[in-house]
Amino acid sequence: MNNIKQIFAKCDKCSHEWYIKQFENVRIEGSIDKTFFTCPACHHEYLCYYADLVVRDLQAKLRKVQNKVFSAAGKRLRTLKQEEVELNNAIKERMQSLKVQMEGSD
Ligand SMILES: [Zn+2]
Repeated sequence: MNNIKQIFAKCDKCSHEWYIKQFENVRIEGSIDKTFFTCPACHHEYLCYYADLVVRDLQAKLRKVQNKVFSAAGKRLRTLKQEEVELNNAIKERMQSLKVQMEGSD
């Protein structure tokens, strides 16, 4: 379970409004995790993202880069910031392809 700041949400299905206190996580198909939340009124499920080993590996690398950013400056900082952008993009792309793999494209 991830602890998150309360996020205000409004359900598309039943118009219920509430604060999301935490996301739910389930392990599906081998090493793929699905993170989502559900409307407390009608139980409609909202997907946050899918993550597999590749995503988790990229997220770990991203955290390392972000930790280094705090103590970096000058050219080193620019290099790290660039790495951060590239890792974020790679994570986004991988999550998107997992979503297509799991749910089919639109
Ligand atoms: Zn609802």
